[in-house]
Order: sequence, then C-alpha cells, then structure tokens
Amino acid sequence: MTRSYVIKPELGKTYPYISHGKGIYLYDQEGKRYIDGCGGAVTASIGHGVEEVAEAMYAQAQKVSFAYRSHFSSDAVEALGAKLAEWAPGSLNWTFFVSSGSEATETAQKIAIQYWQEKGRPTKNRIISRWMSYHGITMGALSMSGHVLRRKRFVPLLEDYPTISPPYPYRRPEGMSLSEYGLQCANELEAAILRVGADQVAAFIAEPVIGASGGAVVPPDGYFQRIREICDKYEVLFIADEVMTGVGRTGKTFGMDHWGVVPDLMTLGKGMSAGYTPMAATIVTDEIIETITQGSGLIMAGHTYSANPQSAAVSLAVLQYVEKHQLIEKSAEQGAYLLQRLEALAEELPLIGEARGLGMLCGLEFVRDKATKEAFPLSAGVASKVIAKSFEKGLIIYPAIGGLDGVAGDAIIVAPPLTITKSEIDELIAILREAILAVQQDLQEKAMFR
Ligand code: PMP
Repeated sequence: MTRSYVIKPELGKTYPYISHGKGIYLYDQEGKRYIDGCGGAVTASIGHGVEEVAEAMYAQAQKVSFAYRSHFSSDAVEALGAKLAEWAPGSLNWTFFVSSGSEATETAQKIAIQYWQEKGRPTKNRIISRWMSYHGITMGALSMSGHVLRRKRFVPLLEDYPTISPPYPYRRPEGMSLSEYGLQCANELEAAILRVGADQVAAFIAEPVIGASGGAVVPPDGYFQRIREICDKYEVLFIADEVMTGVGRTGKTFGMDHWGVVPDLMTLGKGMSAGYTPMAATIVTDEIIETITQGSGLIMAGHTYSANPQSAAVSLAVLQYVEKHQLIEKSAEQGAYLLQRLEALAEELPLIGEARGLGMLCGLEFVRDKATKEAFPLSAGVASKVIAKSFEKGLIIYPAIGGLDGVAGDAIIVAPPLTITKSEIDELIAILREAILAVQQDLQEKAMFR
C-alpha cells in the first residue's frame, strides 16, 4: 500500500480499502465480505449496487450534471420536490435541497429564525433541543445537539441553547407507566419555554426515534402529540429531524407518521439518496413559505451544490426504487423480525440491557448489571469493542454513544438496508452474537463484568 495523505476518522489506524458492494454486502480489496448491518451510517437503505440508480445517474450526467440554482431549475429537481410534497404530510410542501443532514438541520434552524423575523418578532431566535440528540456536525447543528462527545471541544463557540430530557423509557423512574412518563418528558418543553420566555423561542427540534446519540430510543405514544400541543400553545415551531428516520427507516414513510403528528419543518438526508449521492432536504409548510414570500422573499440559506440536477436525479431514482419495491412496508415487516431476534439475544446475553427499535431502526444497550441497569463507565468503551469485534467477523454496525450527560447509554444501532431478507437477518444475528459473546468474555476476564 502506498503512503496515505487522507485524514481518516482515527489517525494512525489502517483502514481496509473498499472494493464493491451488492445488496446488503460490502467487499474489501482483500476479498473479505461484510454484512452492512447499519447501511453505512444508517444510509444505504436500498442496498448496494442497484442498477436502476446507476442508470439514472449516468442518464443525468449525460444531459447535464451541474447548473447553478440561481440560474436554472431542472426537471430532476422539480420532480423530486413534487415527490416529496406527495409523501410529506399536511402542508409540508416546500423543499430546500442541501447535501448533508447537518446542512438540512442548520437550514431548518435558519428558516425558523427567519420566519419569526419576517413576522416582526426577531427575539424569537432560540432553539430548544434534548440533551440526548444528534442533529449534525456544523456549528449551528451542533448547537442544537446534545451529543457530549462531539460538542466537547467546541462548547464555548456554540449557542447556549436550552435542553430538555428525552423520553428514555428503559431508564424511566421505577413504577411510572410509559404514558405518564411520556407526558412528563413532553411537559419539560413547556417548563423550558416558560423559563426562557416564549418570546425568545423560535423552535423545538427532535428526532422521532433517537439514533446516533441513543441507539434507537423510541418515545412512548402520546409524547409527540403533547409536544405538538405545547408548540402550538406557545407559538414555537416544531422541527422533526428525520435525517435518520425518514424514507421508510422506521417502517413508515416518516418517523413522525407513527403518531400522526405533523411538524412545521422536517429534515431529510441519508436514506433520501441511500448513499448514491450526497443529498438532503429541509421541507417546510405552506405557511412558512407564504410568510417569507410576503416578507423579504429571499431564503437566507444555500450551498453551491443545493438542488443540483445530478443529485436530484439520483435521489428521485432512489425514492422510485423504494416505492416500486415497497421497501417501507418491508422495513416494518422485516424490522419486526429483526427486533424479535435482537430481543432473543438480549434474553440470552447478560451484557445486553435492552433491545429496542422501530421498523428497521433497532438498537442494543449494554449494561454492567442487568438487574440494576448499572451502566459501564465511558472509558470501558463496550459499544466500541462490540463494533470492532463485529467488523473483524464481517459485520458492520453503528455506535450510539454520544448523548451521555452522565446518565447512561452504551449502545449500538442495528439498521441494515430495508431490502434485507429473513435469512440474511439470521446471518447478521449469528455474527453479532459471536461478537458480543467474545466481548462479554473479555470483560469477565478483566473482572469488569459480573
Ligand atoms: N441528524 C440526524 C438525526 C443524524 O442522524 C445525522 C447523522 N448521523 C445528522 C443529522 C447529520 O447528518 P450528516 O452526517 O449527513 O451531516
């Protein structure tokens, strides 16, 4: 191997080179096969090597790949906008295109702030989020994120936004029912708005199911309905960050569809283009667009690659593939089977405190003591160990270790492509079981686990 000049996530570590992918499998240049058990970063939701998407990519590149959005619109981008308006609930009809989830959430933050300025209420400019959350890596997106590890170095430069507790059913107070607990967590939003002053708050942002910072933490029914009521009562916009949950990942088109709650702004990324091109979006309501149109008429957001025809054509081909192969329904069906298999693992292996998830967004949380739910110290790096062992054995899974806030949470996400079959799920579980067993044994030998 020649010397590398590429900055990698872990400096000094050697990474295998990717060769190709097909379906749920990835292959490195040494010929080793890996199950993509997390769709990359919960991204490759239609699987690898899909011909239809490659053809759409080539066809658009032959016509025109890039034309700047200040000069032109295109068939591809208009068709994609129309498809999203058809899929999105309520009057979420208007899409602003960007290239990453972080850009999408930061654009939502900016549009929310701009909306209140256009209405003559410029003090409404703060965003409330939850301490267990991840909304992206750019400074604005990080300001709204509770991801302790990613924030750590930049805290003085970030907006000091208020945070509330997420609903984290596994660690709810003993004896409290799920619905009571959901309401208690939602009511924290009301308390935070009253503390900060409703005239200071532009929006509340939340993921329907907590992904990268929690490990597929599903809220109790009733939680988001109450959140919607509170937002309406205090004129606070509700931003649903569907970057991970959108486009079928949880078994419905959007995560929020599970509770019939319509946000004012919605962000998409990842599964929207399933890794075939960088593409993400901020979708907003008619009301927001009418307000800005009647005001300045200009959206203060955008990047060079926003709404480029090439990415739009690829993303459209992905959404058409999802529809044609009924992958949202498959996500619900196969996701239920995946969760059942993970729950069986959780019963068998003492290292697993809980298996959880919705659709094809599942997770496992590791604990030192199953009965007391005692968490490992962060330094034990249990999730990282399970991930490394799985990789060694040919399975890729995703860490969820960010939103700790001194409480708990050493989890992984298991979120394979929505195309995965039952026998492939069995194969995935077999490798994951071996990896967890190996880590469990190692921890026992080091007397870190009873
Ligand atoms: N929001 C959520 C919910 C995410 O899971 C992520 C990525 N893990 C992002 C935003 C940021 O997306 P990106 O990495 O594409 O910038």
